[in-house]
Amino acid sequence: MASHIPEPLRVLVDQLAHLPGLGPKSAMRAAMTLLKWPESETRRLGQGIYELRDRLRLCSRCGGLSATDPCAVCADPERSRESLCLVPEWDSMLTLDAGGFYRGQYMILGGLLSPLEKHDGDGPDAERLFARLAEGEIQELIFALGATIEAENTATWLLQTVRRRFPSIRITRLAQGIPLGAEVKYMDKETLRQSMQYRQELR
Ligand SMILES: [Zn+2]
Repeated sequence: MASHIPEPLRVLVDQLAHLPGLGPKSAMRAAMTLLKWPESETRRLGQGIYELRDRLRLCSRCGGLSATDPCAVCADPERSRESLCLVPEWDSMLTLDAGGFYRGQYMILGGLLSPLEKHDGDGPDAERLFARLAEGEIQELIFALGATIEAENTATWLLQTVRRRFPSIRITRLAQGIPLGAEVKYMDKETLRQSMQYRQELR
């Protein structure tokens, strides 16, 4: 960034340029936009960023971001306490829950096993999951970890471990298959293989 840019602006642009999707040029454009906003708006944004770390915490039940502990989802008495949906990250939980078709509990795993990690080692934050399952309320554990190699690796490891420690808990995973609107001829082999393997009976 050129040296004749005033220091406060340069500091802001450097910071903004670290955000996903923003390079130095678009960061400068964003900073200039902020300068054109009414002062109260710019200050409100600044205050929001300032308070982000102070006012947010991790929910001790699901591990999601929340202003309260437990979070609104975990504290909701209308939700079923018998199923637990395991997601890799908080945004996965938001997306799933926005659909409104799942009304059980969630837990954020907070990371997946890379293909190089050994299955016999400690999984990502799995002790929190095991502690939750040991409470005895959960009857079904749903893997919603995605369809990447890391997700498969994690699911395999968790399946073995959970089966061994909690043999009565039913373990399911999100169906994998052909996305809505897609054509069979354009599907990759692995998607097709899984679609065939988990095919459903028509009723
Ligand atoms: Zn929660």
